[in-house]
Amino acid sequence: MRIVLLGPPGAGKGTQAARLAEQWGIPAISTGDIFRANVKGETPLGLKAKSYMDAGELVPDEVTNAMVRDRLAQDDVAPGFLLDGYPRNPEQAVELDGMMKDLRIELDAAVEITADFDVVTERLLGRAAEQGRADDTEDVIRRRLEVYAESTAPLTAYYEGSGHLVRVDGIGAVPEVTDRIVAAVESR
Ligand code: ADP
Repeated sequence: MRIVLLGPPGAGKGTQAARLAEQWGIPAISTGDIFRANVKGETPLGLKAKSYMDAGELVPDEVTNAMVRDRLAQDDVAPGFLLDGYPRNPEQAVELDGMMKDLRIELDAAVEITADFDVVTERLLGRAAEQGRADDTEDVIRRRLEVYAESTAPLTAYYEGSGHLVRVDGIGAVPEVTDRIVAAVESR
């Protein structure tokens, strides 16, 4: 199973990716988590990414693409993967197509988890209070949603065009949303 997860910040991609990874026995790869781990470890990659993340902007494509290319070359990815947070713009989607072609593997589905902007804003502000993520302040959340609308939302048309798009309603209890995704993907 090779899946990309799409949807606005706060739609529940990370939560669903972890549950689906467990169910399907494949790794969930979150570019946001990899960047945060590198920021925390003060690695060269983390130093490159930090200012963009703090501002709610995308980390430059050449940095992100190289990181994903390395990750997809690792052995644990052989049975499949879930990508959470990548691709995030059409250029990254084209790059991913190239990486998969080089690896001689194919995408099964691009799952868009839909959720209203009001709902996700509220969820993100709630999470800010609980977890204190550096980019969960109100201004940065607003910017992340703008970047989503400008750069990432056009990906749904990209994957609709390639025949991979599966849309799933992200509103509801966590296990219910997982069941919807599994049903939608496995019935393809
Ligand atoms: P969210 O989806 O809640 O905004 P993520 O954890 O997916 O959070 O991403 C956090 C930040 O990491 C982004 O705002 C961006 O700066 C950076 N990032 C993650 N994935 C990518 C990507 N594919 N391309 C560029 N930047 C990324």
